[in-house]
Amino acid sequence: MTETSRRTFLAGAALSAGAAVAAGTATRAVAQEKHKPGAPTAPQAANYPKPPYPTDMQPWPGLASKMNPRPDHGETSYKGSGKLTGKRALITGGDSGIGRAAAIAYAREGADVAINYLPQEEPDAREVVALIEAEGRKAVAIPGDLRTEEFCRRLVEEAATQLGGLDILVNNAALQQTRPSIAEISSELFDDTMKTNVYAPFWLTKAALERMKEGAVIVNTSSEQAGNPSAEIMHYAMTRAAVLNFTKGLAKQLAPRGIRVNAVAPGPFWTPLQVAGGATEEKLREFGSDTPLGRAGQPAEIAPLYVAAADPLLSFSTGQIFGSTGGNGQPA
Ligand code: NAD
Ligand code: MG
Repeated sequence: MTETSRRTFLAGAALSAGAAVAAGTATRAVAQEKHKPGAPTAPQAANYPKPPYPTDMQPWPGLASKMNPRPDHGETSYKGSGKLTGKRALITGGDSGIGRAAAIAYAREGADVAINYLPQEEPDAREVVALIEAEGRKAVAIPGDLRTEEFCRRLVEEAATQLGGLDILVNNAALQQTRPSIAEISSELFDDTMKTNVYAPFWLTKAALERMKEGAVIVNTSSEQAGNPSAEIMHYAMTRAAVLNFTKGLAKQLAPRGIRVNAVAPGPFWTPLQVAGGATEEKLREFGSDTPLGRAGQPAEIAPLYVAAADPLLSFSTGQIFGSTGGNGQPA
């Protein structure tokens, strides 16, 4: 039975004479199916695509809505349980990929969510706004380029104003462009990569901290690349290492203020970043085949870590790096 037909069934049952009995039976059936011993917690994972993948490349920054196959961001699968009720979150790169999966999960956990993205990504952002609003949560869409301090400050100010405060900042946007050798990494590309991936989280965090209160959380996105860089994206890998270190250092600094700082470190995930210049065609075709799970992860599979990193119940966890790598080693 699909989720919609289950809901329809439950709604129909509620109208009938034997409503309580029928609804009770249906709810038990759903619960039993969910908690069947040995059943995978995410049955859809068994059907996720495996290499070889199609190599439909896109111009940067790419759109999730144009990817083949389309990534699963948890649109139909993520179920919340009120872990972030009443929280107000800003997620950069919230239009697609890992950021979109986090945005969907946060809204379903009860948070209002502002997303930032580039103007070219408006079609992806519209889908995310609709998904957040479908949960009855407030969605704020703020397009703009993170490569200047001036915009980063404005973004935080506008998000906090429209959300009525800021409890969670997810630094997730990044630039990853593959280059076969250091000789081909121009100063311009190096600068853009550093500005987007290192300076922007620094600027955004500084601005957010002017507004954040005790209990607030910063969630950064690092990578398995932080500890095990691939040769052709070494300039990008440096930035993921910087973010990992930033997470640990800032966590120490902010502990006395009761503000936690954690990071999520993904392995290979099926997102626009990879098809829009982040990977070569050869790498994309076999993406994730070197992991023990033998495939790329889908953004839906990492969203629970973004929820955990921000969950107030995880109050002793700060300066932590949560990994999702398909079985390969963790960053240092
Ligand atoms: P993605 O393309 O869906 O997300 C990256 C986002 O960054 C884009 O949607 C875009 O909105 C944003 N962005 C880039 N440059 C920007 C700029 N100048 N101004 C504003 N926004 C900008 O890809 P993703 O893989 O979901 O990436 C999210 C995070 O995950 C990144 O930090 C990336 O380093 C990290 N990561 C991804 C993988 C992977 O295999 N996909 C692996 C490890 C880490
Ligand atoms: Mg995008």
